[in-house]
Amino acid sequence: MNCIFCKIINGDIPSKIVAESSNYIAIKDINPVSPVHILIIPKEHIEKPGELAKFDGKILQELFELVEEVARSENIFDSGYRLIVNSGKDAGQEVAHLHWHLLGGRKLGKLG
Ligand code: AMP
Ligand code: ZN
Repeated sequence: MNCIFCKIINGDIPSKIVAESSNYIAIKDINPVSPVHILIIPKEHIEKPGELAKFDGKILQELFELVEEVARSENIFDSGYRLIVNSGKDAGQEVAHLHWHLLGGRKLGKLG
């Protein structure tokens, strides 16, 4: 499959991995929009957020544990952060493999 995130997960293209769990990797975004910009990516090629519903609910527990671990290791746990999913064209989704943007390290503007 010609998916850049699957290639990163398979180790076929390089990335800066900051954390990993059984079902996710967390990497530095190549084009950061804030001092901390991490992508949290399920290892499974999933396209839409709702597709996570077909997995055991523990996969969501693992996601939020990893978010907290990364927020702490990136020193934005106390200052605050934003967690975003873009889904589809109007949201500007560029990579059709579900991922969460973890943004922080500066005061973020209003959404939208
Ligand atoms: P989205 O617009 O929500 O699909 O976000 C895709 C994100 O992936 C963008 O913020 C890109 O900068 C980022 N990105 C694209 N290619 C790479 C890559 N090879 N390594 C790290 N981040 C990437
Ligand atoms: Zn993929």
